[in-house]
Amino acid sequence: MLNRRKFIGGATAAGLVSLLPLKLKSFPVSGKKDLPVIISTWNHGIGANEAAMKTLENGGSVLDAVEHGVWVPEGDPNNMSVGLGGLPDRDGFVTLDASIMGPDGNAGSVAFLQHIVHPVSVARKVMEDTPHELMVGEGALQFALKMGFKKENLLTPQAEKAWKNWLKKAKYEPQINWENEPNKYHDTIGLLAVDKNGDIAGACTTSGLAFKMHGRVGDSPIIGAGLYVDNEVGAATSTGMGELVLKTLGSFLVVEFMRNGKTPQEACEAAVKRIVEKLPDNKKYQVGYIAVNKNGETGAYSLQKGFNYALYQGGENKLIDSKSYY
Ligand code: ASP
Repeated sequence: MLNRRKFIGGATAAGLVSLLPLKLKSFPVSGKKDLPVIISTWNHGIGANEAAMKTLENGGSVLDAVEHGVWVPEGDPNNMSVGLGGLPDRDGFVTLDASIMGPDGNAGSVAFLQHIVHPVSVARKVMEDTPHELMVGEGALQFALKMGFKKENLLTPQAEKAWKNWLKKAKYEPQINWENEPNKYHDTIGLLAVDKNGDIAGACTTSGLAFKMHGRVGDSPIIGAGLYVDNEVGAATSTGMGELVLKTLGSFLVVEFMRNGKTPQEACEAAVKRIVEKLPDNKKYQVGYIAVNKNGETGAYSLQKGFNYALYQGGENKLIDSKSYY
């Protein structure tokens, strides 16, 4: 049998080197660009896109734009899947995950953070004011308070009521697409922007899976899973069952597919297909990806029907239904 040691031992150095890409493939930037462009997940993307575009128009950076964009659902108490008013975990605690990544390749994240309305801004502070990329839980909260963020109660009466209802059955069964039901449940916001110069940033923020186990962290704060930006290529972000995205490192995968020549649409489809091929429980859950490349081309794809996204391009900000695998 060819074991690993024999394989390495038998291979020449030159042979091994030829297996590795010597240089990252450079992405073909076309002359035809439709910029700026802002794309974000779900219905709540419309308001977020609006705020992000305003920041760009007022001369803010692309990083400012993505941060200001996702502030809108984070601060909305009626949005029950992001920031203030987010549905709590099974023990009644609202715990938030967020990440942000800029054109310089720098990134910051927070996970399992409580009491702060704008976790994306704490993530940005982690990125800019610490040598770290990810801070979690009590340490992240202490850092936020030190940075001047206010400690608040994020559990709104309507989220508490929903939790108490859930407790009656306490059945741990994630549902597909409850987030766009008329009861105003929504989902993670992932927002990507390319400014008029072609610089790219992204942000992703969520209260995570409703009624999750206390301490559970999803894909959203994990760079490469819930969000990835490569200023040479494009960006991607995800929503839905974070465990499936984490196990396939989805957003990084989408960006790598684009680097290797796929359009954003083809790249999102290929990343969803990877989940289908690798993870047998894919039929039960929703995952949606959105992506944009450096030329301003966009794409979106989901496992199940019912995913939508907001696209702001060419002066128009509109909701679009994503195609899906099933
Ligand atoms: N992806 C998020 C998570 O798993 C939640 C969601 O988008 O529904 O935490």
